[in-house]
Amino acid sequence: MDFEPSKRCVEFKERLESFMDEHVYPSEEVYARQMRESGDPHHHAPIMEELKAKAHQAGLWNMFLPDEEHGAGLSNADYAPLAEILGRSPIASEACNCSAPDTGNMEVLHQFGTDEQKERWLMPLLDGEIRSAFAMTEPAVASSDATNIELRIERDGDEYVLNGRKWWITNVYHPNCRIMIVMGKTNPDGPTYTQQSQVLVPLDTPGVTVLRNLPVFGYTDQDGHGEIDFKDVRVPVTNVISKEGDGFMIAQARLGPGRIHHCMRAIGAAERALDLMCKRAVSRVTFGQPIAMRGNILDWIAEARIEIDMARLLTLKAAWMMDTVGNRHARIEIAAIKVAAPNVALKVLDRAIQVHGGGGVSDDFGLASAWAHLRTLRLADGPDEVHKLSIARRVLAPYIPREKDA
Ligand SMILES: Cc1cc2nc3c(=O)[nH]c(=O)nc-3n(C[C@H](O)[C@H](O)[C@H](O)COP(=O)(O)OP(=O)(O)OC[C@H]3O[C@@H](n4cnc5c(N)ncnc54)[C@H](O)[C@@H]3O)c2cc1C
Repeated sequence: MDFEPSKRCVEFKERLESFMDEHVYPSEEVYARQMRESGDPHHHAPIMEELKAKAHQAGLWNMFLPDEEHGAGLSNADYAPLAEILGRSPIASEACNCSAPDTGNMEVLHQFGTDEQKERWLMPLLDGEIRSAFAMTEPAVASSDATNIELRIERDGDEYVLNGRKWWITNVYHPNCRIMIVMGKTNPDGPTYTQQSQVLVPLDTPGVTVLRNLPVFGYTDQDGHGEIDFKDVRVPVTNVISKEGDGFMIAQARLGPGRIHHCMRAIGAAERALDLMCKRAVSRVTFGQPIAMRGNILDWIAEARIEIDMARLLTLKAAWMMDTVGNRHARIEIAAIKVAAPNVALKVLDRAIQVHGGGGVSDDFGLASAWAHLRTLRLADGPDEVHKLSIARRVLAPYIPREKDA
């Protein structure tokens, strides 16, 4: 593969880096203060709207969307270094309208939505006026196997009626969240992969009850992760995305780009942790020497450099394959980086925390919250074990004797 970033990518990268230095990093403290002062963990800090306006004006908006008309028209390989930069700050992705799960939802609506669905939901999402959620996981079943999903979607005349329970639904506590894409069964007795459909459900539809927010290692995320009850929730049949039975196919389509975007951002978080680790290691002295001079710390710094660079190259390879041979043929690489990137980032963060001593587990350096957030990536969008299973199956396939050879 060609590792040279395109001219377009270099130009975006320069502009994004200046935007981060000028606006995003200095706003992190303001954001934290506004959140603290509001007393509401789901408060929409006013600084975020200011940042969004500036990002929009600077043309650093919807960079994730490969479509020229509605997005920046960048390939996956071109977006990778930009998502990495966004991953360095917990507030950058929302500022540039590039945060999950909206990105995946926008891609789905862009690819499969009807004109009416696009007008009603995609346009305000692209404009950053509203936020959205994706509701698949259920408390009652092991949801890393999506065929287990049980929420029932039954047709009644011109309407679908939804009954069931979801949890870990990210974004539903964001004050601007208006719409969910909900996955459930329209045909429970049909062939396994066509039992499910995805339908659009406005958050304020009668029968939708957000029961509670789920904390992450005790942190209450601003956008929240809701447990939601669906009781006789009625939506028009025109709210189905693509068509009945396409739920599984759409879920597969959204997961490729979604997964790799997480990985790119994880590498950015690891890079920032390494930066903080180095700054701290040279500035703290114990027993007459800066911590940075100790053999084990030098080893951690070297290992972090090696592992981050390896993870970045695997991300770029996966992105390049998605661009050149398509998501289907990049399945091993996408699964591999989905396992590798969060694990590398967690190792670097853990060591950066150790080098910071007590400060590392406080709120002062952002390391503890970054670790907590990244730890969830070993579960969200598929646990490590499921990705490894799919890699191993593909690697093993040529070795398994065919019936006629046996
Ligand atoms: C912070 C966060 C945000 C999330 N956001 C969303 C969201 O917005 N929308 C949404 O729908 N979901 C969301 N999720 C849910 C997430 O996608 C699921 O938790 C994940 O898919 C795993 O499903 P599960 O929790 O039901 O675990 P289970 O399916 O019960 O699996 C439990 C464990 O079993 C093991 N396991 C499973 N299969 C295998 C196997 N084949 N081989 C070996 N071991 C195996 C793994 O270790 C796995 O972690 C979020 C989760 C978190 C933590």
